[in-house]
Amino acid sequence: MYRTHTCGELTGKSVGKNVILCGWVQRSRDLGGMTFIDLRDRYGITQLVFNMETNATLCKQARKLGREFVIQAEGTVAERSNKNLKIPTGKIEIIVNRIEILNASEIPPFTIENETDGGDELRMKYRYLDLRRNIVKEALELRHKMTQEVRNYLSSKKFIEVETPMLIKSTPEGARDFLVPSRLNAGQFYALPQSPQTFKQLLMIACYDRYFQIVKCFRDEDFRADRQPEFTQIDCEMAFVEQEDVLNAFEGLVKDLLLKIKGVEFDGPFPRLSYNEAVEKYGNDKPDIRFGMIIRELSDLVKGKGFNVFDSVEYIGGICAEGCAEYSRKQMDALTDFVKKPQIGAKGLVYVKYNTDGTCKSSVDKFYSEVELKKWAALLEAKPGDLLLVLAGDKNETLNALGELRLEIRNILNLISKEIYAPLWILDFPLLEWDEETKRYYAKHHPFTSPKSEDIDLLDKDPVAVRANAYDMVINGIEVGGGSIRIHDRQLQQKMFNILGFTQEEAEKQFGFLMNAFRYGAPPHGGIAFGFDRLVALFAGHDSIRDVIAFPKNNSGRDVMIDTPATISDGHLKELSLQVVHQKK
Ligand code: ASP
Repeated sequence: MYRTHTCGELTGKSVGKNVILCGWVQRSRDLGGMTFIDLRDRYGITQLVFNMETNATLCKQARKLGREFVIQAEGTVAERSNKNLKIPTGKIEIIVNRIEILNASEIPPFTIENETDGGDELRMKYRYLDLRRNIVKEALELRHKMTQEVRNYLSSKKFIEVETPMLIKSTPEGARDFLVPSRLNAGQFYALPQSPQTFKQLLMIACYDRYFQIVKCFRDEDFRADRQPEFTQIDCEMAFVEQEDVLNAFEGLVKDLLLKIKGVEFDGPFPRLSYNEAVEKYGNDKPDIRFGMIIRELSDLVKGKGFNVFDSVEYIGGICAEGCAEYSRKQMDALTDFVKKPQIGAKGLVYVKYNTDGTCKSSVDKFYSEVELKKWAALLEAKPGDLLLVLAGDKNETLNALGELRLEIRNILNLISKEIYAPLWILDFPLLEWDEETKRYYAKHHPFTSPKSEDIDLLDKDPVAVRANAYDMVINGIEVGGGSIRIHDRQLQQKMFNILGFTQEEAEKQFGFLMNAFRYGAPPHGGIAFGFDRLVALFAGHDSIRDVIAFPKNNSGRDVMIDTPATISDGHLKELSLQVVHQKK
């Protein structure tokens, strides 16, 4: 028997017991005639003691153990005089009478503790060592618990988990496909699924009216923080449902997870906002509603007073930063620099300091009297001591910039707690987006999303005005899931492909299987997919999904541990009938 107990389970109740533990040497300390070793395994840390007086040979042996040596230690559980109440095993220690080195270790490239000296890249290169750290272990354990709970909950609601293939044909989720060359069909390729979208729809047509799958998806996207080329979805679909049924079913899932995993009870239904409302109030379609600071339009109030910057633009809007009227020149400059960053894109920042003495001081005093500035303050619900921040420009761009500024102020003022969960649904997304560059429409969600029945007439007249039966679930400013009611009518699907610029032939080639299936009794259906990594990161309180993935890729899509993507041999290329063309950068 290698071990009788783990390093995380012995407590005061076991005093006097003879035990055998196995684990890694986290650290060792020599104090006078005693040597202490912290022995670590997946479950915790237990202190081992060696006494020079009672067993000099063993103590000397212990002193030679380096960090991360794997050892087996046998001894008696004893009560500790110097108790560590921070850990469950802190009341006891093991008086060791035998050790065996199961494997030596080189000195690890970084310290394996929560506060480590290892940088990101180094920890990723040695991810198996990083995974020994408590903080990472906790994230993986949480992930496992959430996986189990999702399976339990959905199974209890009659969903069945069905696996769908990984080697498929392109599914249009708006990213590039990862391709896999076929050896047996020279010149032909599989695509890795961007999601199981078409398969889950086929399962509905087949009769499996409640499906889910915890599934890997692959999207070849340009670098963006918090994206991984491969990620996990909780993918779901239901038949014989309307939007309301889907929202209820999955609100139930998230409430269950919040309760079972975080102990947070959520009363009543999740709030709902239309896409337009979300953008107008929060500047984007994934609002963080843990705090207010709502965006308000000032155009009517500020135009026509001789200030050319405001008179010449489409939209002027503002937010109120509570208690910030005393901001210094330096702090104001930092906010101006923030909104002028290329990714925010504002040209400048207008401010009004609504001083505690009730006076107003603004960057546009030349054009607006104090009476006028107070009207702005009233509209933005500011009180003395607050700071009004105003941006102007193209409507969508300005709303977006105000949304970013709102989040920046949230961070500066530390307005939120990670322990609060503020979920909501965003509804009524536009079905289509017009792209000026390629001069064509794109599906905002994907081509299988159905238009709202009352908007179908607009498909020909004013396509961008058509609203979709689509919904996103957002928690704390993070889009955790999204889905839609699907088109299940062949003609309408054909029409949608036409609008999206597919010729009949192209649509047939790419989605003929689905269009054919629509001939054989496709029920009304709809579904959703949750970004599981994001959901876990949110529950774990981590900002990056990389922290909750066992073996993640770095920001340029590389796995630096296994060093891939990598070149392949000429023989391998030949077998796949491939030739690599090196392009000059
Ligand atoms: N397939 C969609 C996605 O991955 C989700 C859905 O519509 O169910 O975003």
